[in-house]
Amino acid sequence: ESRAYAAKISGVLDLFEQVCAREEVELGRLDAIAGDGDHGQGMAYGSRGAAAAAREALAAGAGARTVLVHAGDAWAESAGGTSGALWGAALTAAGSVHSDDAAGSPAQTLQSLRSGIDAIQRLGGAKVGQKTMIDAAVPFLEALGSEDPADAADTARRISEAAAAARTAADATADITAEKGRSRVLGEKSLGTPDPGALSFSILMAELGAHLAK
Ligand code: ADP
Ligand code: MG
Ligand code: MG
Repeated sequence: ESRAYAAKISGVLDLFEQVCAREEVELGRLDAIAGDGDHGQGMAYGSRGAAAAAREALAAGAGARTVLVHAGDAWAESAGGTSGALWGAALTAAGSVHSDDAAGSPAQTLQSLRSGIDAIQRLGGAKVGQKTMIDAAVPFLEALGSEDPADAADTARRISEAAAAARTAADATADITAEKGRSRVLGEKSLGTPDPGALSFSILMAELGAHLAK
């Protein structure tokens, strides 16, 4: 049971790797407009490293908690960059919700997402409206709600609905100017372009919801 759950998590990270590879060029293009152009590469390297670390930990007999902690460390290390550190911390925090020797419940699955986003907020210190990943992650959290899910199907549906809210919010970051981690001049150049980190967050959550619904 706990092995199957850990394998499921490893499968999600394989999916993230595929999706980030698919989106690499577009995310890089968006980051190049007002940033340094490496967001696509960072997400591709980070997710690839995380997926490999998860498979390795799983093969060594690790449970959900250890798989996610190792994946988080690997994401941060492989990606470099701000978003890599934040995604790495998020995976590690998501792992802390689980144990190594029990399957996660649907409630724990949602709790691990909340915990991951909480880590991004704590580590990054960004507030809504600063044109970062947080602009997608906070509406995602709000749409997810605080009630426990009824079952696995409800979990998947809640994630998909929250991902749609995150996508709308990510697209809306095109209308604001970046102020976090970028110079003001570059920030002004970002007007009209959505924040790449907000967009990649919403894409990955949409893929997660669709994957869990299967
Ligand atoms: P870097 O900025 O180091 O080149 P990336 O290009 O991979 O890293 O990631 C850029 C993305 O990181 C931004 O689009 C934004 O969404 C996100 N980001 C940057 N700083 C923060 C922060 N303090 N909190 C949350 N997200 C942030
Ligand atoms: Mg960048
Ligand atoms: Mg960079």
